[in-house]
Amino acid sequence: MTDNAKCPDCGNTEIGRGKLSGYAVLEPINKIFSTGSDILVDVCTNCGTIIKMKVKQPEKFKVR
Ligand SMILES: [Zn+2]
Repeated sequence: MTDNAKCPDCGNTEIGRGKLSGYAVLEPINKIFSTGSDILVDVCTNCGTIIKMKVKQPEKFKVR
C-alpha cells in the first residue's frame, strides 16, 4: 500500500503501520456483546506523526 501515504508534517513517504489493541481497543457504544475492534495506525517513520487511525472491523460499529 503505497497509494497516498505521505506525512503531512515532514513529507516523508515511508509510512509504518502499527496496531492499537488491548486496553486501547475501540468498542461500539450500543452493543453489549462485542469485543471491539483493533485500531490500525499509520505512522511516519521519520518524525512520528500519526497520519491515520482506523478500526480494523468497521462493520462492528454499524447501528441496527
Ligand atoms: Zn513525518
